[in-house]
Amino acid sequence: MKVFKFGGASVKDAAGVINLVNVLKTIGYKDTLVVVSAMGKSTNALEDIIKQYFQDKSKTPSSILPLKEYHLQIAKDLFPDQKNEIIDVIHELFEELLSFLKSNKSPDYSFVYDQVVSFGELLSTKIIHHFLRHQGLESFWLDARNCIKTDDYYRSANLNWDVTQSNIQLQGGNESLVVTQGFIGSNSNNFTTTLGREGSDYSAAIFGYALNAESVTIWKDVPGVLNGDPREFQNTQLLNQISYREAIELAFYGASVIHPKTLQPLQRKEIPLYVKSFENPLAAGTSVSKGKTLDPHIPCYIVKKDQVLIQLSSIDFSFIVEENISYIFGLLHEYQMPVELIQNSAISFSVCVNNKYKRLEELVLVLRSRFNVEVTEAVDLFTIRHFDSKASQFINNKGKQILLEQRTSETAQFIIKT
Ligand code: ADP
Ligand code: ASP
Ligand code: MG
Repeated sequence: MKVFKFGGASVKDAAGVINLVNVLKTIGYKDTLVVVSAMGKSTNALEDIIKQYFQDKSKTPSSILPLKEYHLQIAKDLFPDQKNEIIDVIHELFEELLSFLKSNKSPDYSFVYDQVVSFGELLSTKIIHHFLRHQGLESFWLDARNCIKTDDYYRSANLNWDVTQSNIQLQGGNESLVVTQGFIGSNSNNFTTTLGREGSDYSAAIFGYALNAESVTIWKDVPGVLNGDPREFQNTQLLNQISYREAIELAFYGASVIHPKTLQPLQRKEIPLYVKSFENPLAAGTSVSKGKTLDPHIPCYIVKKDQVLIQLSSIDFSFIVEENISYIFGLLHEYQMPVELIQNSAISFSVCVNNKYKRLEELVLVLRSRFNVEVTEAVDLFTIRHFDSKASQFINNKGKQILLEQRTSETAQFIIKT
């Protein structure tokens, strides 16, 4: 089997879906499992629906209608001449969504989130499945929730590998062309769970692992993995080959082209991951596999924007050692602050965090009871792997204040004031 993954950008409109079929026809689709995300920005739209629902549960969220129209329009563009049953399927899925919202009694935001947000992937895969059939490709629609089994940690569920693997082997490998959803799974009570935003790459890796796939290909709007996000950096270059270890490092530091969890399962079975352009399917793209660390061996640039630098020092000049550090980390965990970088000296401790859940104020209040606290918001964290003199120039040329700098033999990181 081969596993393909198509993200939201690749299927944002009818032209994108037609292109997906062309990619399959060009590359071949025998013994292929295709994992698809929600179309375009549908997941964001569903997040809006959930917010509106929690603001006033007595009203039907107004953002449902435009999302329905968006999917109906894609279906109408794909089947301009005849009425296809997909139109009824879309109506039914939206009925199901409304009926869930009407009957739901759970006040648990994360539970409701997963039940609602998963409709994006159900809609996209149903539309694509019907269109493939219409184009003469014998597609089989697989409900990923019957395969991907997780715990109850809604919005960022953890996989039960054993059950998932046997489910996928039973259900995923029998048909020649399978279409399924990324991002979604279910728990032991069969409630829908999700693997975290951008989790479809991870789903593709899970299917690839369980099926002992010969390769996993993620089709993107870029030629492959570049040595920097082209939206942020100029003159980026394509990386032809990256080792699993190097790719894990890049993804961990924030190279958002690959979801960080994607690589571990593939590395365990040495399944190659290809990152290719859906606009140019015959081009080689990037291969993440056993072999050279990085080819070409050039610096790789990653930026995480809008981070927060917290600088702590002891009030009484006492040392910041294990006991304080463990207290600080306990708080960072409690207030759900992903830690991006740390640095310490005898009486000071600096930490760069992502204020993902907007709990900075609460955290700072607690910290002030034991430390002098200085907070700098809206900083950029630059990470440069395989740092060289040219990369150093890049940082200096920014002409911005460097608040903190840290280097190891392979990685240099800079916190820069914006
Ligand atoms: P998907 O449609 O699969 O969700 P994403 O939007 O998550 O795709 O990933 C593709 C985007 O990742 C590109 O448009 C690009 O802006 C961004 N990106 C970030 N870092 C890199 C990198 N190192 N190389 C290529 N693209 C990158
Ligand atoms: N649709 C989900 C999201 O937008 C999953 C994914 O695209 O990977 O986060
Ligand atoms: Mg994505």
